[in-house]
Amino acid sequence: MEVYKGTGAFSGIAVGKILYYHKSEYQVHQYEITDIKEEITIFQQARLKVMEQLTRLYEENCTVSESQAELFLNQKKLLEGKSFQQAIESMIRSEKVNSAYAVMTTRDEISSTFRNLEEPAIKERIAGICEISDRLISELGGFSPRIDLGPDPVILVTENITPTELMEMDKDKLLAVVTHQGSDISHAAILAKTMNIPALVEIDTDTEWDGQCAIVDGYTGTLYINPDGELLKEYEIRRQADLEEKEELLKLRDKPDITRDGKKVAIFANIGNMDDLNSVLFYRAAGIGLLRSEFQYLGRENYPRENELFLAYRKIAETMGDRLAVIRTSDLGADKQAPYLNIPDEINPIMGNRGIRLCLDRKKMFKAQLRAIFRASAYGNLAMMYPMITSEEEMDEIEKIVREVTEGLDEKNVPYKKIKTGIMIETPAAVMISRELARRVDFLGLGTNDLTQYTLAMDRQNPLLRNKYNDHHPAVLRMIKMVIDAGHEENRPVYICGELAADTALTEMFLRMGVDGLSVVPACILPVRRALRQATISTCEK
Ligand code: PEP
Ligand code: MG
Repeated sequence: MEVYKGTGAFSGIAVGKILYYHKSEYQVHQYEITDIKEEITIFQQARLKVMEQLTRLYEENCTVSESQAELFLNQKKLLEGKSFQQAIESMIRSEKVNSAYAVMTTRDEISSTFRNLEEPAIKERIAGICEISDRLISELGGFSPRIDLGPDPVILVTENITPTELMEMDKDKLLAVVTHQGSDISHAAILAKTMNIPALVEIDTDTEWDGQCAIVDGYTGTLYINPDGELLKEYEIRRQADLEEKEELLKLRDKPDITRDGKKVAIFANIGNMDDLNSVLFYRAAGIGLLRSEFQYLGRENYPRENELFLAYRKIAETMGDRLAVIRTSDLGADKQAPYLNIPDEINPIMGNRGIRLCLDRKKMFKAQLRAIFRASAYGNLAMMYPMITSEEEMDEIEKIVREVTEGLDEKNVPYKKIKTGIMIETPAAVMISRELARRVDFLGLGTNDLTQYTLAMDRQNPLLRNKYNDHHPAVLRMIKMVIDAGHEENRPVYICGELAADTALTEMFLRMGVDGLSVVPACILPVRRALRQATISTCEK
């Protein structure tokens, strides 16, 4: 038996067989070739095409940022180099495999051999090799869009996973997700939580584990490979206890969200897509506090059409009835990418053109979403909220666009409601001007995930910062209090919808601060409801 320690991104216990999700194994088909010479020509042609691509990218980006554009030149040099080409050609010759598969395998071998080296130059070279390999595979037509997990449920282990990949998997086949990269508040981990699947991050994963039996303990962040009989028995008991605990919690399903001393504080649900609506109803959430609408833009070939968005939002509005459902306008960019978006490579995408910035750059996309939201508003109690706001000027621009959209609907006599709007406070800049921002809208939503990373200047997904990333940092907690006070001074309710809202160690503190609502993934509604119902706030100092 082997034991690995990482971080539990979502609690729960899973026992089952590992499927090592070798990204490309499921995207690149391997087949035997008969004509080696022809296959090498195919590879060489793809290589030349990618080199042309890189030259073009260099020229296009040169005017924007010389240093960024240089990355493309460096990648081109790697493609010109003999060693990478020889490795691929020799694999095609010796194993008689297709070139896309040979590229993928070579890439994986190189990156797994050097992945633990910290030397920046080597890291950069590996990243370059991965990048050119992906371009080559794509040129060779290697990718197939869907991800097949096989017939039985599995524990998915992989180096890294994107929200898009996770969304493409069949949720019923996933017992747990274990990754090397990412953190407990990376979007893939949040998605796993929303799917109610135990998740571990920062585990030093190994392709050799494929097919082996394992236990995932999301509470302690531990992975056991080939557990012995004793441990399996123990975990069967724990799994049972886990289920019993969940049964116990289920008794709270119909209980009101009210503290011991009678203060009502709504608990809302954070969701990523329509499938989550059932859990929102099941756990009796007060409403939807955050629909991460951008997930509807991922894992597809092109922008969703306005009508497609409208139908989805209408379904939410109708399902929720009188209960509030807050649609956050798309927060694309950073780790939420789709090829058709063609977001130019950024040196630091977390600080890049994401969220509202991208929407204001792509007004056609933004307007289509706004129109869909307004049209759907006629069917229920929708609200909308803007992500990544940093200034009042952004609000000026948004208000102008909203006016254009509603005037357009008026002209065509399309029915819609005057819906409530909110701003996400998730940058230190927004915290400092939260009073001014509060005046512009009906409510504020604290996005503590981004607020923490921008306040600490630590990438929320960087595993190297695992022991340094402190989301209970006094600076973050004080900012939360500042925003609640600022909102209240302007008579606006303030909700928390980042992952901290589900941290029951902080529930009482948030209540004392005067928060008006907490929005958490559906699976965390009952634990938070329990913490809230056990809290007494009137006796506590403010
Ligand atoms: C946040 O930043 O806290 C938030 C809710 O938004 P996301 O996690 O989707 O960035
Ligand atoms: Mg955010």
